[in-house]
Amino acid sequence: MDEKTGRGDDEGEEKNREKSMSDEKCYLVENKGKEGNICVITERCKGCGFCIEFCPVNALEFSEKTTEKGYKPPKMNQGCILCGKCEKICPEFSIYLKKKKEGE
Ligand code: SF4
Ligand code: SF4
Repeated sequence: MDEKTGRGDDEGEEKNREKSMSDEKCYLVENKGKEGNICVITERCKGCGFCIEFCPVNALEFSEKTTEKGYKPPKMNQGCILCGKCEKICPEFSIYLKKKKEGE
C-alpha cells in the first residue's frame, strides 16, 4: 500500500471507482431468465485481454476504440452467461458484474 495516499485500502478503491464512473460502459445481458449488466471501467483497463481469454463462452472481444492511454478495452459480443469470471480475473478491477435487483 502507498503510505502517502493510502491506496490499496477499501476506501481508496471506492473513490477510484467513483472517479472513473464517467468512463464506465455497461452492457445489459439477458440469458435464460437471468438478467444483469457487465460493466467496463474503460479508463482503468490495460487491455491485457485476460477477461476475453478466460471467458468460458467467448462473450467478450476487444473494442475497436482505444482509451486515452492507448489500450483496447473489452466489449460485449454475445452469449454472456453472467458467471462473473471476468470480474474475478481482471487485475485492474475494471470489469464487473452488476446483478439486477428485484423490481428493477
Ligand atoms: S460474466 Fe462470464 S460469461 Fe459473461 S463476459 Fe464475464 S466471463 Fe464471460
Ligand atoms: S482483464 Fe481487465 S484490464 Fe485486462 S482487458 Fe479485461 S477489463 Fe481490461
